[in-house]
Amino acid sequence: MKRTNVVRILPDKQQERVLEIIGDRSASLYNAVTYRCRQAFFKGEPVPSYEALCSEFKEHPAYKALPAHIGQEVIKKARKAWYSYFACLRLYRKGDMSRPPRVPRYWKDRRTGKRIFRVIPIKAPTSYSLDARCLSLTLPRDLRKRQGDRLVLRTKGVLRFHGRPKTLELKYDPVKKRWYAHQVVEVPEPKRPARPEKYAACDLGARVLAALAVEGLDRQLLFSAREVIKDFLYWTNQIAEEQSRLNRAGRETSRKLRRLYQLRARRLRHAFVALAAEIARVLKRHRVTTLFLEDLTGIREDMDFGPKNWLVHNFWAFRMLRNLIEAVSTRAGIKVVPVEPRGTSSRCAVCGHPVRRPVRHKAVCEECGRVWHADANAALNILLQGSLKEHGAEATPQRPRVLRWNRHRWESRRKPAAGTLKAASGSRMAA
Ligand SMILES: [Zn+2]
Repeated sequence: MKRTNVVRILPDKQQERVLEIIGDRSASLYNAVTYRCRQAFFKGEPVPSYEALCSEFKEHPAYKALPAHIGQEVIKKARKAWYSYFACLRLYRKGDMSRPPRVPRYWKDRRTGKRIFRVIPIKAPTSYSLDARCLSLTLPRDLRKRQGDRLVLRTKGVLRFHGRPKTLELKYDPVKKRWYAHQVVEVPEPKRPARPEKYAACDLGARVLAALAVEGLDRQLLFSAREVIKDFLYWTNQIAEEQSRLNRAGRETSRKLRRLYQLRARRLRHAFVALAAEIARVLKRHRVTTLFLEDLTGIREDMDFGPKNWLVHNFWAFRMLRNLIEAVSTRAGIKVVPVEPRGTSSRCAVCGHPVRRPVRHKAVCEECGRVWHADANAALNILLQGSLKEHGAEATPQRPRVLRWNRHRWESRRKPAAGTLKAASGSRMAA
């Protein structure tokens, strides 16, 4: 399977200039290839293949200004945009996409019309080397001072995955004004040790982001969305303020605005990554082999959309959470099975009778008299549905364990011990 290492590049002033030159040349070639393809497309001719483009652009000045490994990869990248365009078009015609895809566009600033660079793709590890401290790559011929001169850049960050190195991309983040290297590595599939089958299930929601039920465990784990949404809405307000400030000044966007958007998304992602890691820890501790994960293709009929309809407007965030949980579980060698959560929150997980929902988070079973946390009940139902077990297989529900996001980690909502409480109030007084 493929994984990506991301490290930051720390170029000095002169190296930054060189990166900008290579980036601009890549954009120039990208735009030339895109122009060729667009012309063919609008004339109703077939868009040339990658091989055809390679031989056609062999003598092109933009291609010759780049090392071959970068030039070929830029052409491939430009052609790939068309592959995905046609793939999306097929989906749209089948009715699987709500809006028609747009024809691949140029790398340019739409307001100023100026060419912008985004990415320097490098084809194969024969022309670059990346280790814990530096990245070295081939320079274009005219930028070499001596024979065999290479660009050696300092890097910062940890290479998380080890395996066969594949392509590498140097990406420029215009908001942070920083360069990053994204390296793809082919990692061997994790071995699944022969263990007795053990199941777990995960239900996703707006008020409780994730509810986890593990087979043989009578307490479910709930990840409260409260703090996460609060933080998200705080930054949404900041964005709105900046937007109205820009409106008054007659402007559309600013670097600060883009920074705020990035910050909001990253803070959310931080919470989600930590959540997924916590789930993986629990699954590993209980030696789970299969996780039933709620599928988001069909939105649950009684989906709770959270404060300010958070989920309706931010469904992408939900998909991100789901994908993160799936990725981290797969990495831990756990099989992930998507399940359609039909009616999982309307039945009692012990006796299977329909439940009453006096308030959103509660499910009351009048048949057996149990009072559930609605999401814990749903998770348990997904577990039963997936493992094909009869209702009543699990013991009496205990109070689920609620975890809250404290902006650093997910913590259990236990009362702090007396000593820490005193220490906390003491420090507050000192402050
Ligand atoms: Zn019941």
